[in-house]
Amino acid sequence: MEDKSQTQSQQERSIYDMAVAQLNNVAKKMNLDPNVHEYLKYPKRELTVSIPVKMDDGTLHVFIGYRVQHNMALGPTKGGIRFHPKVTLDEVRALAMWMSWKCSLVGIPYGGAKGGVICDPKQMSKGELERMTRRFTSEINFLLGPERDIPAPDVYTDAQVMAWIMDTYSMDKGYSVTGVVTGKPISVGGSQGRKEATARGVVYTVAEACRHLKMNLKGSKAIIQGFGNAGSIAAKLLSEEGAIVVGVSDSRSGIYNEKGLNIEDVMAFKQETGSLQNYTGVTKTDPREILEYPCDILIPAAYENQIDETNAPKIKAKIIAEAANGPTTPEADAILHDRGVFLIPDILANAGGVTVSYFEWVQDIQSLFWTEKEINDKLKEVMTRAFANVLKVHLDKKVDMRLAAYMVGVGRVAEAITIRGIYP
Ligand code: GLU
Repeated sequence: MEDKSQTQSQQERSIYDMAVAQLNNVAKKMNLDPNVHEYLKYPKRELTVSIPVKMDDGTLHVFIGYRVQHNMALGPTKGGIRFHPKVTLDEVRALAMWMSWKCSLVGIPYGGAKGGVICDPKQMSKGELERMTRRFTSEINFLLGPERDIPAPDVYTDAQVMAWIMDTYSMDKGYSVTGVVTGKPISVGGSQGRKEATARGVVYTVAEACRHLKMNLKGSKAIIQGFGNAGSIAAKLLSEEGAIVVGVSDSRSGIYNEKGLNIEDVMAFKQETGSLQNYTGVTKTDPREILEYPCDILIPAAYENQIDETNAPKIKAKIIAEAANGPTTPEADAILHDRGVFLIPDILANAGGVTVSYFEWVQDIQSLFWTEKEINDKLKEVMTRAFANVLKVHLDKKVDMRLAAYMVGVGRVAEAITIRGIYP
């Protein structure tokens, strides 16, 4: 497990250590069988591959990619693939573990996995991106399959990347295998509502939190950090629900206006110029500073480790809904809890994405497709039920919302391991 190149290259603390610390915490709280606890600390499989790609200028560049499968007790492993310059194996391990808890928490029959390639997709041509995606798929091919491991979009990957994965895998098999990957375009077995699913799930959980706290979502002020698929659509859906989106940010800058932003306009601007940097009529902030601006609902939808002990005391929001995976450190968790902030943890808040991925996989396997209304209704049912289960543990056991979510998520995986037994 110890990987020198990873630990040395990492500027920040090990995210995997943080994920294991969370697991240890929940194990103690729920009196988890020590043998099952030990089992769950380790990823089942991890693969590192080198990906040689012919670049447009004729040179060869070798990218490094990872696929980690954490646990498969409940079914095939599931989780996104991210393309980012700062991807590390340590991070992918943590994200794979979190996928195990997330799938189990919302009651879908999957284990957890994650993948990543160290690259900067913003600096690559479409051709380079396609060749890298295809070669990566081919390198991890033997791990994948609708009954084995099913990738999906994550940071800086989209429906087009998923179509290339599906095509590469299918070319190797000799027939079309739509169920090998989710988040695909509709034309090749994608699902209605998948693109919006993560954001829609976040908004459903925020609505449930408002109901619990007797707050009115309509008229509440919201800030969203991150303007990718989850962040931008969450901003749009929240404003459709009557919330006032006062701040958003992308990787370069944040924009804030206490009277509210016109989200359609901000989305069009970002689409046109590729950034929020030159948007006018707003207060400009640093992408991280936006988290500290006044609001009722804060949605970190960017990256890990954004809320730590330095900025947690300055956060003004009453509700934090984690659309990103792992945006809050354990130290920040404790501070937010003491300050009475209601936290909707990542494995609950952002589970809408993988839930509709599950619907997509089910539709692909049956070759029978549902309407967007059917998808959204089923998603709402899953998210509302998961929220209620976590809230009940939070209230009954007097533990914070993250611990409550972990108790449900880890508990179901532990039960499956116990009932299946250890082979041989
Ligand atoms: N990448 C998303 C997540 O972190 C979606 C995973 C999936 O749909 O498999 O939950």
